[in-house]
Amino acid sequence: MEFAMIGAGAMGLRYGILLQEAGNDVTFIDTWQPHIDKIREQGGVYVSRDHQDRHLTPIKLETPETYHGDPDILIFFTKQMQLAGFLERCEHFFNDKQYAFTCMNGMGHIEKLQQYFADDKIIAGTALIATVLNGPGDVDFMGKRGAGKMNMANLTEKPDEMTHRLFDELQKAQMNPTLTTNFKGTLMTKVIFNSVINTLCTLFEIQMGEFGNFEKAYDLGRQLIDEAYDICERAGITLVSTRDEEMTALDINTRIDMPLHYPSMYQDMIHDRPTEVDYINGYIADLGRQYHYEAKTHLFLTNLVHLSEYHHENQ
Ligand code: NAD
Repeated sequence: MEFAMIGAGAMGLRYGILLQEAGNDVTFIDTWQPHIDKIREQGGVYVSRDHQDRHLTPIKLETPETYHGDPDILIFFTKQMQLAGFLERCEHFFNDKQYAFTCMNGMGHIEKLQQYFADDKIIAGTALIATVLNGPGDVDFMGKRGAGKMNMANLTEKPDEMTHRLFDELQKAQMNPTLTTNFKGTLMTKVIFNSVINTLCTLFEIQMGEFGNFEKAYDLGRQLIDEAYDICERAGITLVSTRDEEMTALDINTRIDMPLHYPSMYQDMIHDRPTEVDYINGYIADLGRQYHYEAKTHLFLTNLVHLSEYHHENQ
């Protein structure tokens, strides 16, 4: 199949390179000039796995303006606040046969994709797959080959032939996909998961294992989970796990699966980039407001992350 990866950062590179290695035709599209220059200069991207086996992988790289292909599927991996700009710059090669797929964190991206793609062409999901962009042209796939997993669902909740073809290619690329027919619930369950781990680990600049092993981790997580689940109940969103299952997932992910990983929000903070907190905890607080529920803890954390961003910007 032919793919265009819109956003060739950590996750765009991970999905794109693994799909390329599984035999697909992949073109990467990016806008960050130092990254583009480095990839061109070195003839590809340096890829490591868990800091080891660093090797050069050639890729096809374009900017939105130089790309004129017609891929079957466009895969979006930008940060939430970058998406509108990418969509505007890429619009000239969109057509109504193409599918848009994404496993971006947070919420807000689907409405933006709907401005360019019909609902039956939008597939989205969630990725429990940790990847770090060390710097321009240098990416580290955390976890062993085949580690991590992902969920995907059609916006229409009706998987079609292209959905199954995409699923098969993701499976060949060892992304361990699960296909669901609960679109909003699948996405929101991950937003809630990230609202605990990403946000708290970023605020305290700690690895996931340091959070998971803290004796009050359960209490901290439970307060955020309860607020978010109360809101989803009011909003009529059926989450894909119960509160207790979400607590267990938090525990296993932090202490056992990825104890040494810093979440992607932390990577933004230490590089003085804006975080996605408004699309995670901020989104939950906004949703709560719509249903007359004040998500005080999520709102407080959103503001704390902004305070920390402000501190990083001004130090
Ligand atoms: P990323 O920041 O690595 O890349 C996104 C875009 O930002 C790319 O176009 C990249 O070239 C550009 N970029 C990277 N560093 C930059 C810098 N210093 N200055 C300017 N531009 C820069 O983002 P990502 O980690 O690939 O995340 C994409 C989406 O996937 C996000 O919604 C994220 O939350 C989600 N996600 C990430 C991970 C992960 O482990 N990285 C896991 C699951 C989901």
